Amino acid sequence: MNLSTLNPEQRAAVQHTEGPLLLLAGAGSGKTRVITCRIAYLLRRCETPPQAIVAVTFTNKAAREMKERVDDLVGRRQTKGMIVSTFHSLGMRILREDIAKLGYKKNFSIYGAADQARLVRDLLQGIGGERKIDADRVLWKISDAKSRLLSPEQFVPRSQDEAELAAAQLYPRYQRALKAFNAVDFDDILLLSVRLLDEHPDVLERYRDRFRYLMVDEYQDTNPAQYRLLRLLCDGHRNLCVVGDDDQSIYAWRGADVRNILDFEKDFPDARVIKLEQNYRSTGTILSAANAVIRNNTKRKEKALWTSGESGDLIDAILCDDGEDEARVVVEHIHALRARHELAYRDFAILYRTNVQSRAFEEQLRYENIPYVLIGGQQFFDRKEVKDVLAYLQVLVNPRDEVNLLRILNYPRRGIGDTSADRLIRISAEQEKPLWEILKGAGEMPELGEKAQDAIASFVALMERFRERFRRGGRLAEKCRELLAELKMEDEIYRNADDPAKGKRRVENMEEVVNAMASYEEREESPTLSGFLEKVSLLDRDTPGRGTKEEKLAQDAVILMSLHSSKGLEFPCVFLVGMEEEYLPHKKSLHETFDIDEERRLCYVGITRAQRILLLLGAARRKKFGRRIERVPSRFLAEIPAELLRHRKSEARPELSEAEQDKLAAGFFAGMKGLLGE
Ligand code: ATP
Ligand code: MG
Repeated sequence: MNLSTLNPEQRAAVQHTEGPLLLLAGAGSGKTRVITCRIAYLLRRCETPPQAIVAVTFTNKAAREMKERVDDLVGRRQTKGMIVSTFHSLGMRILREDIAKLGYKKNFSIYGAADQARLVRDLLQGIGGERKIDADRVLWKISDAKSRLLSPEQFVPRSQDEAELAAAQLYPRYQRALKAFNAVDFDDILLLSVRLLDEHPDVLERYRDRFRYLMVDEYQDTNPAQYRLLRLLCDGHRNLCVVGDDDQSIYAWRGADVRNILDFEKDFPDARVIKLEQNYRSTGTILSAANAVIRNNTKRKEKALWTSGESGDLIDAILCDDGEDEARVVVEHIHALRARHELAYRDFAILYRTNVQSRAFEEQLRYENIPYVLIGGQQFFDRKEVKDVLAYLQVLVNPRDEVNLLRILNYPRRGIGDTSADRLIRISAEQEKPLWEILKGAGEMPELGEKAQDAIASFVALMERFRERFRRGGRLAEKCRELLAELKMEDEIYRNADDPAKGKRRVENMEEVVNAMASYEEREESPTLSGFLEKVSLLDRDTPGRGTKEEKLAQDAVILMSLHSSKGLEFPCVFLVGMEEEYLPHKKSLHETFDIDEERRLCYVGITRAQRILLLLGAARRKKFGRRIERVPSRFLAEIPAELLRHRKSEARPELSEAEQDKLAAGFFAGMKGLLGE
């Protein structure tokens, strides 16, 4: 491990191993690199045992990348037992061991968005609000409360908003239901970890003893629950190193609190604070544009990023006719730039504010036969046919999981109608027994009718049989395939599909679950069904199907993703598309707190992903519900000094000479200014 590849400030941060350390620095200044080097330094120079090291970051992808970098530095043998993970995986590790102390069973389920929504819809029905109140908004409120560590008793509505009021009413029931189903949601993973450590000093002591060195990347985006977890773990030895950039805090809407990083010195008065100001990622021009945009945010720590590299190309600002035109222009540029700069497809990233924007680009890329990967969007593991398979597996592991049990009770159809299901649920509530127990005793309930009784009995028998088969060990994927065959899942999918082509795709998706399971088995040392389900639940929320996010990035394909997912990454060429008012800044409908500064930080994150080439695109018009509407260029475009930009119209082809382009641009520039109202 060679410290001479670091600049003096970076080196100081790497060598400061004892006591609190804050690295507050701008994009591309080597913060993440410092963390990886610091881990290597601890392992190599300080002979710290790997089990004593915990590094936390934002996505599974970032975690895996970090682990790989450390492996490269010190060799795989030396990192065995070290934890490099997301907050959620860290929480899961803690829960798996000791959740029984909180009254849950070890085989608990993890509820994702779809399961949660289903549960909240049921609860809304209970208070007669299912028609007028949106379940997602209620969930949002509950999730927000949990990320602020508020228990159901502590939650007080902050407004007369009906979703807020419903959330206050339903949060206690929601939490009770989860516990009865032996399930936790995403926020619980953190909330319950904190509770466990708070209420059980022996457990806390064990972890404090073990985790001697804590490091956190992207610290600006931690929420109060994550903050509390860190505090609990590090009080005592106080070896906490956090790195981040307040200008890149982009998750306030999800409960992140930038004060965590800004107040670090208050929390730890003896903290060593190190600033990094040299940017190693982008050209001077790109950096100047980023600096110029972020300067317009008033509440921030002033930072002056500089680079010793070249100033590089001007930034292209291209106004397109409409969305299709924008996609065409991007693809045209990929062709031309790839040839001109000898770039691979994977060197290009198309970044947008919202996932729906990806469609036009996907179509155009497909049309031109350019390989691409889409990160985010319709989530594979949230598709109905995939959820159905997972629901079976989940119930095999945790029979108390009522949300999933109800999902499969009559799917594929086996003659347990809604009336019978309602009756069963009522009996389970009256007798205060889990639904599964009621099902097992259904033979003694003549009121269900003979047909339903038989159906329930064979369902129970099937599940018991497969539970036993999975328990006995052997290939998981093989057993899963047998289960699906026995269920005749394929027939059911075709029966319900509008057309055979759709049915075929869905069947393929279903089979993809078996494939995912098979590759899980190959990777894992001791694979289990519950281990597989846990992996699936903890995938980055924006991780799509086949293969993981990092596998996708490794292929030679153009990358499409949202600005939020692009955090921490870098690409030789970046297209920042949809540079229009209402996209960026986004017109937020779901959340009340509209924060233009956070939108500007997103723009800053986008610009600073680019290493050499940056293009900003927007459309003059877009289709909305089939009508064309006029669009206004993003205010952030006007914040970039004109001398850094080359304004162009979409007709300007990259294959044109500079002079020809300039001529086109001159005419266009006036038009752009007009649009900006200058
Ligand atoms: P972000 O804020 O976007 O997460 P960051 O501060 O974490 O950025 P890194 O990703 O660690 O920055 O580094 C940015 C790039 O600069 C990487 O390609 C990294 O390898 C390179 N880099 C960092 N420090 C140095 C250095 N001292 N010498 C040469 N290259 C460096
Ligand atoms: Mg980073």
